[in-house]
Parts: sequence; C-alpha cells; structure tokens
Amino acid sequence: MSEIKETVVANNFIKNIIDEDLKNNKNDSRVHTRFPPEPNGYLHIGHAKSICLNFGLGKEYNGITNLRFDDTNPVKEDVEYVDSIMEDVKWLGFDWEDRLFYASDYFDKLYDFAIELINLGLAYVCEQTPEEIRQFRGTLTEPGKPSPYRDRTIAENLDLFGRMKNGEFPDGTKTLRAKIDMSSPNINMRDPVVYRIKKAHHHRTGDKWCIYPMYDYTHCLSDMLEGITHSICTLEFEDHRPLYDWFLDVLKTPCHPQQIEFARLNINYTVLSKRKLLQLVQENFVNGWDDPRMPTISGFRRRGYTPAAIRDFADRIGVTKGESTVDYSVLEFCIREDLNKTALRAMAVVNPLKVTIENYPDDLKDDILDGVNNPENPEAGTRKIKFSKVIYVERDDFMEDPPKKFFRLAPGKEVRLRYAYFITCKEVIKDENGEVIELICTYDPASRGGNSPDGRKVQGTIHWVSAEYGKTAELRLYENLFLTENPDIAPEGKTFLDNMNPDSLKVIQAWVEPSLLEAKTNDKFQFERVGYFCADSKDSQPGAPVFNRTVGLRDSWAKIAKK
Ligand code: ATP
Ligand code: MG
Repeated sequence: MSEIKETVVANNFIKNIIDEDLKNNKNDSRVHTRFPPEPNGYLHIGHAKSICLNFGLGKEYNGITNLRFDDTNPVKEDVEYVDSIMEDVKWLGFDWEDRLFYASDYFDKLYDFAIELINLGLAYVCEQTPEEIRQFRGTLTEPGKPSPYRDRTIAENLDLFGRMKNGEFPDGTKTLRAKIDMSSPNINMRDPVVYRIKKAHHHRTGDKWCIYPMYDYTHCLSDMLEGITHSICTLEFEDHRPLYDWFLDVLKTPCHPQQIEFARLNINYTVLSKRKLLQLVQENFVNGWDDPRMPTISGFRRRGYTPAAIRDFADRIGVTKGESTVDYSVLEFCIREDLNKTALRAMAVVNPLKVTIENYPDDLKDDILDGVNNPENPEAGTRKIKFSKVIYVERDDFMEDPPKKFFRLAPGKEVRLRYAYFITCKEVIKDENGEVIELICTYDPASRGGNSPDGRKVQGTIHWVSAEYGKTAELRLYENLFLTENPDIAPEGKTFLDNMNPDSLKVIQAWVEPSLLEAKTNDKFQFERVGYFCADSKDSQPGAPVFNRTVGLRDSWAKIAKK
C-alpha cells in the first residue's frame, strides 16, 4: 500500500456536513466511517466510488474507516465473496487495519436489542404471510391496516420470539415486526419486519441461528456498536433514514450515527447491479467475475486498469445528491492518464503487412537499435531492438491511393520506422485477387536511429516488428459488453441480455517485439500507436504471452484511417 498517493476527496456536500460537525464538536470531533458490503457478489466500480469516499474521508479527517461485511442473508452469501472483497479493497489502496467486522458478529447483541424492543412494547411476533403483510401495508396513497397480531402481550411476544429462535416454527411462518405506525406516510415505518425465520447455514455462524435480522434493523445498530459517526449510503436509503433513526432513538443507544445519502454511480454501456452481474457469470455470458469485460474491480484489475486511475476517477466524478450517468470515456481517460506515465512502450503489429527492404544487405546481422521504454519517464531507460531486411508494418499504415493528409506509407512516399530508418515505398506486390501482400522499399542507412541525415523531413512515423526476430502473441481486444447506453432499458419481452454486444471479445495473433515474450503477468505496456495492454493474469505464460487490451489510444491517426 506504499504506492498510494494522498487521496484527497474533492469538496462535496458530505465534507460540508463533517466540517460543520467538527465545528460543533459533535461526536467529540471524531470522524469514523465504514464500508459495508454484502458478501453476495464481487465488488464493482460503483462500490469503488463508495470505498474511495468512505476511506478517503477517514484519511482526510484523520479519522478511521471500518470494513464491515453486512452478512445477514445466509442464502446468498459466500466466503469466496468475502475474500474477493478484501482483496479488492486492499488493491484499491485502502487499509482497514484491525477493523474488520461482520454484522453476524453482532447477532447476539441484535437479539438482545430485539428483546428490549419487545419489552418496550415496540415489537411483536406476527403470523401474517409475506403476501398478507404486503396487502396490509397499504400504498403511497392509502394507509396500512394493523396486523391482527399487533396487540399481543409482551409476555406472549417474548415467548413466541424465543421459540422462533429455538427453531420451533417453519420458515416464513412468523416474523418479528417493529410496532411503529401503520398509517405513516412513509411505508418503511409501517411496522417493518425486524426478524425472519430462515433455517439456513450461515458462512460464519453455521447453524447457530435460524432467525436472521433484516437489513434496516441490523445496519443502524451495527453502525452504533462500532461508534460510526457518519454512515454514508446511496440515495435509495433516504426513505429508510427515519427507520434508521427510530431504532436508535427508542433503544436510547449511547451513540447515534448520522446517515447521509449520496447518488450512486451509473456508467453508460454497462450494468452495475450485482444480481445482473451474477447472472452474466452464472449463465456464462462472460468468463467469471474477473472477466476483463466486467465492470468489477477484479475484472478491471485483470484488464490492466490501475488503482491510482480508479481513485482518480472517483475523485473526478465527485459526490452529489443528483442521479446521473457518467460517460465511460471519463473512466478510460483516467486509465490513459495513469498508464501514459507508467506503462512501458513496445511495438506490436496487429494486422501485418510484409515489407522487404531491397537495398538492406542480406548478410547484415546484429543491427541493434535503441528503443525508448517510456518517453514520460527517463528512468525507464532504453531497450535493444534488432532490425532485419524483412519486417512487418501495420496494414492500415499503407494506402495505395492515399488522400492528401495521409502521412504514412504509400507508393513513392518516405516514412520513418520508429527508432530505425527512413524507408521509401518502391513497389507494391499483390496476389491474384488484387490484395496487397508485400511492399518493396528502400532504406536510407544514414537515417539510422530514425534521425534525419540531412534535415529532410518525413511526416509520418510508423511502428514495425522484425519478421526474423519478432514473435507472435495472443491479443484479446475488448469492446463494450453492451451495445446500448442504458442496457437496463429493453423492449417489451426482452431483457438486458438482449442488449449484449456479440463482438465484445476478439482474439487475434499479433507480431510483437521478442522482449515481450518475457512479460510477466500484469505487466503493462503501451503498444505504440495501438493501445495499452496488460499480460493476462490467468492465461499468459512465459514464452506464450496473452495480452488484454486495457484501453485504446486517443489519437487522430485512427480517425483519419477511418475516413
Ligand atoms: P445491489 O447491486 O444488489 O443493489 P449493493 O450494490 O447495494 O447491491 P452492497 O454490498 O450493499 O451492494 O454495497 C455496499 C456499499 O456500496 C453500500 O454502501 C452501497 O451504497 C455502495 N454502493 C453500491 N453500489 C454503488 C454505486 N453504484 N455507486 C456508489 N455506491 C454504491
Ligand atoms: Mg446494498
């Protein structure tokens, strides 16, 4: 975690609230936040926003931040998810130190609080079915009706709740409900369920419990037990805040965290719902949670995104109360900004066209040139690249009949080969179908290193790989997983799955500099003029590298080629 630069959370309304609290010496001037994932899936870029916000505020205010697994739903949760979440938070550069908690650690205390609620006459055991509960709850315009079990005596409630805990009743036959107000304009306050019966094995508490507390009840009390000061969550919980406060108020808890809501992150051309991401994994639309096309943190890591770039992204998009969708290009911009500074340069030819240099001596061996590893970082040094009489260039870098502004290879035109020589195209060789299969060029030996020998200018510089010394490598080229900006919107009878891009993965063999065969997994490169790539963490092997395209380069030559 030493590489983490100081995370500064841009000014936002939450910081204004904290500043005000500190001014008033609220919470003894402590700032204590938490990140509370439910371990029912892998983390995605939306969670990264929440992580950067919570841990960022902790850091900035000299406070602390807990990691708490909100594990109250035994059926959907799994240790695989717990482990992946810890790995992802660490990878993003954050540290919960010794403050790793589980809501399930509080099950005993939560049970005691429930007993207290019953004793206060503020909770009752209800025997309505989920359907009846729904019917009695009313609507936004109609008040609810009280459950027939609402007025049981305290003794009766204590007895029944104890027997619920002891496993005497089947799943779904009884619940414990808070007794609040069936005609509250806020539906969340119409006697919400606090406990339900679920005879399921829990990944941490095993078979100890067959009743499990509900989210709203668990969350505020867990925050309170940990001494959280600012409990930051997404906007959909705004209407739950009165309930959050109600539990803490009636139980007269010694500490009362403040819930603050912000707008969740949405990005176009992707989905950020764990349920949908799980479906993509389970139904094999992608190759696992860490498929490089997934918007998960593990997918991004495998694709070559960096923690610094994701933190930068979180800073740039800011924190507001207004729902909005961020353009995917903002994320890609942040990735490029970081990789431009750190990724080593190399040459790879994606769509090769053979070039024979006719005046290059047949017997010239060991013509070794120097390539700059990173023009942005002199310390990255140089590498040796062997030249040869036959090379490959990018097919797109040649046009037989070029438009005016095409500065690359064309009959009679001279270009610079990166780090090597000026070459001039003399002859175009075609196959029987008229397709160009080879160019015959001449080179100027005096331009060695790519320097002009006499001040004459060439307008284009293109990349190349030696046919003699170069190697092949697998490149995985990714496009958006979805074709529509908002994949959640699907026509009648269709789902988000119908919006998937069938061509989101293209696998090709490219010619690469021989040094790339030694790439270690996760090594990041800029293949000059082609894009940023990262050696795949699962499938790349020494001698048989596999590179994921992290992000393309933003450059004008690609646009010209398209015209
Ligand atoms: P689901 O995807 O099923 O709605 P969830 O994303 O809410 O679930 P949690 O594990 O409960 O899953 O999320 C942990 C924390 O991350 C919560 O505080 C939640 O508010 C926050 N979070 C989740 N999604 C986003 C998002 N898109 N943008 C910002 N924060 C998010
Ligand atoms: Mg949630």
